[in-house]
Amino acid sequence: MSVPFADLLSMHREIADELDQIWGVVLERSSFIGGPYLDVFEEQWAEYCEVEHAVGVANGTDALRLTLEALGVGPGDEVIVPTNTFIATAAAVATVGATPVFVDVDPKTLLLTPQHVADAVTQRTAAVIPVHLYGQPVDMPAIVEVARRAGIAVIEDAAQAHGARWKGQRAGSFGDAACFSFYPGKNLGALGDGGAVVTNDAPLAERVRQLSNHGRGPDRYLHQVVGGNSRLDGLQAGILTLKLRRLDAWNEARRTAANAYRNLLSGLPVDLTEQRPEAESVFHLFVVQAPGRDELMNALAAAEIGAGLHYPVPCHLQPAFAGPTQPRLPVAEDAARRILSLPMFPHITENQIESTVNAIERHMLGLSEASVA
Ligand SMILES: *Cc1c(COP(=O)(O)O)cnc(C)c1O
Repeated sequence: MSVPFADLLSMHREIADELDQIWGVVLERSSFIGGPYLDVFEEQWAEYCEVEHAVGVANGTDALRLTLEALGVGPGDEVIVPTNTFIATAAAVATVGATPVFVDVDPKTLLLTPQHVADAVTQRTAAVIPVHLYGQPVDMPAIVEVARRAGIAVIEDAAQAHGARWKGQRAGSFGDAACFSFYPGKNLGALGDGGAVVTNDAPLAERVRQLSNHGRGPDRYLHQVVGGNSRLDGLQAGILTLKLRRLDAWNEARRTAANAYRNLLSGLPVDLTEQRPEAESVFHLFVVQAPGRDELMNALAAAEIGAGLHYPVPCHLQPAFAGPTQPRLPVAEDAARRILSLPMFPHITENQIESTVNAIERHMLGLSEASVA
């Protein structure tokens, strides 16, 4: 049985009729930028995230960039970033002229820890960006405490953690602000690009909104600051409002799949990413670590099972950032050679999970397909 790495079509088939209706309404109203769907989505997304304000923007990278800009982070400032993340976390920092200071991650969760933050703070540190990577929240209360003591801002990168919780509280509601991506493959995905900034800080939300809409204030003909254009389309907002109703069920399906993997993989020589008891992950990705990862990935490809790498080159070693001044970050560097993301999506079946684990088992036991059959 072939197993795709992800399956967006099954989600969209489930809501095909409602999706059609939204397109009809947007066309009828001709409200393509902004409009009622955007207002409704921003209100509902803020409520879902248990915060006061949400501002729709063009993508997750802009959400980070605009938040940094709105907080006044710029040239001369350092921003602490875990090296095990998608490049956009670090690129957003560099784009505003600040310096990403890369730190290592915990070997079991592969996430940023409070100690990493405390050790990296200097006179120049302006902010830290904890990343809830793979869908598991980091220990936010402890990181916020370190940040408060150091007097630095906390921006959550929640692009992989829509709906995740730490001790019952939503990822995205702990920091000064949190940034989401609605890239189609995320747990809540648009049918194109999209993003949002959420925060309890009303002036900060207003600054992000201004920067994302040509620097406009309440009077649309007065441009208060030099801004740009990074808005969430009305159509995408409508689609996201519709898909938001399914998000909890789809996240639950991902957790069920993760449990099935956990049971079936026990006893095999692959290490699971540790789940902290305080964390309720939404399993954007299901990442394991295995020796001989490249051979294992080839074996899965031969069995027509999609697997991914998140991420094979840590940010501090990426050509865009590498150089003699970068530190050695051994945990992330070692993990990058061992990590493998297995197929994970809400509609994955027991059979698909079993096929994936069977293919891993066959490879690990060094048995050929023929001798098993
Ligand atoms: C996807 C992602 C982003 C960027 O989001 P885009 O919408 O693709 O710009 C940022 N950080 C993390 C951790 C991501 O996974």
